[in-house]
Amino acid sequence: MANKGRLIIVSGPSGAGKGTVLAEVFKMNPQLKYSVSATTRGPRPGETDGIQYFFISKEEFERKIARGEMLEYTTYCDNYYGTPADYVEDQRMKGHDIVLEIEPCGARQVKARCADALSIFILPPTIEELEKRLIGRGTEVSEVVAARIAQAKEELARADQYDFRVVNDDVVRAAKEIDEILRK
Ligand code: 5GP
Repeated sequence: MANKGRLIIVSGPSGAGKGTVLAEVFKMNPQLKYSVSATTRGPRPGETDGIQYFFISKEEFERKIARGEMLEYTTYCDNYYGTPADYVEDQRMKGHDIVLEIEPCGARQVKARCADALSIFILPPTIEELEKRLIGRGTEVSEVVAARIAQAKEELARADQYDFRVVNDDVVRAAKEIDEILRK
């Protein structure tokens, strides 16, 4: 049997550019798998159900929690987010490494269940840059942007709980740094 694949947790505040950096990492490592989370937030323009997220209702999410189908979950800015356990386990059993792009509370739950999970925190170059990116993105109303900035400050304060920290000052450079971490 193939060795069990690794669990790779990637966290970082909203606006740090996790998605863009990870897209580069996936180009460098086409064999890597991505865990599609479930969420109760609505899709943003350009997001498709089953690709970025499984967009489900609050009731359906709570049923999944009750059935023990979530590897981890949390509420973030008034919505549920969680990792369906079956896909992750299935891919790992097939020997594939899998990336979980999740916030710190979920990261802690996964670490508690799976101590050998590798955790990487992506930071923005400065908090000002992060605010600029969140406002400039224009995908959230101003109260949500303010909530995400407050959340980001809390998350940044806990960056040292991760195995590795990578600053997203340049997308390709940051992706190469993550690529090297994965090869170690
Ligand atoms: P967004 O709404 O910007 O897509 O995501 C908000 C936050 O939720 C981000 O920090 C993202 O990494 C996190 N997130 C996405 N999916 C999950 C998940 O399945 N579990 C947890 N704990 N956090 C998630």
